[in-house]
Amino acid sequence: MRLRSAVALAATAALAAGAAWLLRPAARTVYLGGPILTVDAADRVVEALGVEGERIAAVGSREEVLAWAGGRARVVDLAGRALVPGFIDAHGHFPGSGITAVYVDLSSPPIGEVRRLDDVIERLRVRAAEKAPGEWVVGWSYDDTLLAERRHPTRADLDRASTEHPIVAWHVSGHLCALNSAALARVGLDAATPDPPGGRIRRDASGAPDGVLEETATELLRGVLPPPTLREAWAIVREATRRTLAAGVTTAQNGYAEAAQLGPLLWLSRLGLLPMRIVVWPREEVAERILAGDLDFDPPDPDRVRRGAVKLIADGSIQGYTAFLTQPYFVPPGDDPDYRGWPRIAPAELNAQVERFHRAGWQIAVHGNGDAAIDEILDAFEAAQRAYPRDDARHILVHAQMARDDQLDRMKRLGVIPSFFVLHTYYWGDRHRDVFLGPERAARISPTRSAEERGLRFTLHADTPVVPLEPLRILWAAVNRRTTSGAELGPEQRIGVQRALRAVTADAAWQHFEEATKGSLEPGKLADLVILSRSPLDDPAHLDRIRVLETIVGGSSVWRAEDEADVR
Ligand SMILES: [Zn+2]
Repeated sequence: MRLRSAVALAATAALAAGAAWLLRPAARTVYLGGPILTVDAADRVVEALGVEGERIAAVGSREEVLAWAGGRARVVDLAGRALVPGFIDAHGHFPGSGITAVYVDLSSPPIGEVRRLDDVIERLRVRAAEKAPGEWVVGWSYDDTLLAERRHPTRADLDRASTEHPIVAWHVSGHLCALNSAALARVGLDAATPDPPGGRIRRDASGAPDGVLEETATELLRGVLPPPTLREAWAIVREATRRTLAAGVTTAQNGYAEAAQLGPLLWLSRLGLLPMRIVVWPREEVAERILAGDLDFDPPDPDRVRRGAVKLIADGSIQGYTAFLTQPYFVPPGDDPDYRGWPRIAPAELNAQVERFHRAGWQIAVHGNGDAAIDEILDAFEAAQRAYPRDDARHILVHAQMARDDQLDRMKRLGVIPSFFVLHTYYWGDRHRDVFLGPERAARISPTRSAEERGLRFTLHADTPVVPLEPLRILWAAVNRRTTSGAELGPEQRIGVQRALRAVTADAAWQHFEEATKGSLEPGKLADLVILSRSPLDDPAHLDRIRVLETIVGGSSVWRAEDEADVR
């Protein structure tokens, strides 16, 4: 009897101990058996990496790291696959990559299937038929220059999809949208409505809105277009989370946060429903409220959710003809051969906003694509620094696509970090050369090599949902600079794989003031890791074919390709 209870007790204890061991990740894990790209200061490639809890504890040779583990570690054999730092999104709009879970996908090849206006209309018509009359139908990501008709849908086009549902179709840039007649009526736009400052309501010959809204005119939808329901919001977040982790991104970004997004991002993270880390850039009006004390956003664990820069917007997008250039567009969009776009914000107002946030100690990120807009942004940064000198402000020039050499010199002098949207060389490269910019300016779009030659730190991004969040395709674009037709675009601006990798890891961490905890594989940093099907150093021409196999955040595996395959 006594023996039996002793056995039972021992069994129970063993079971409990076993269960506890199963629940908790092994205290120590060693990765070995494949190249480990540390992205440290010397770009070392090492044999083994040891993780303890949620941090990296040992990096070095197989012998060194196994000696550190002391025989008590779980050993992961990479079997020739590569380990790199988790990718950090230098600029994107989480959870934007999940919007197609709820809204109509209007994207064209190579991303989607829409080839002509009829495709746009048909997709919106099908969705409208599923909804009660009066309910909004929202489409996302049409690209006028990839439609056979080479123009935006107008109210008349969209009325063919429905006259009973208000419809809004967003341009791929997010800087323009097209409305049908019901939507125009809902917003209250007619011939008498003036253009708002920094925006344009396109009109027909009679002066009535033709349906297309540019830049700040799209803000007229604010408060009229209902926000997603709770159920829709969750579907968007769930899909965005899956896509983010499947891309190997361990730190996502919301690069233009609305006030209504701040609370949900915080509590979703606290509930453990967002396995990745998030950096939030409040949009200007939201940051203003935080600054004034009207809105509280002070994340308790900045390693999970961090408040980053305030985000301002100085111009639009090149492919929307709203980027502000110093020289005219190559093929003008209308009758004016001197058309060069326009600033979305008056220079005096931009200066005032930059000065206010700079003085308050904020980091500032300003969207600027055209070189005229970049001049104005750098003027604002410089004036603020002169009035209120501050060390290491790390203000960010977001996109910086048309940055000239003298502007890169100025960024270097001012300590400004450009974040390049280098995927434009692929997705819009042919049209930048033939339509928007002409061969000369297109060749030096996203001038990464010029930046590197100046010792200027820079990051690379996808601005998702503008294009899919695929860091390996970003690397491929920066290293190869090929368009969708396969043509080279400015090969003299190509950079090496290590430099490109740094721009989506270590330098992206630096851009977020997180270089002490993230971005490279060094002892003491968070164990945010990605296992890739092969080393990016092996075959630079085909970087886009590398597959993400596993994503690890803080030492815990949060996504594995094989699990996803099981689900399908
Ligand atoms: Zn953006």
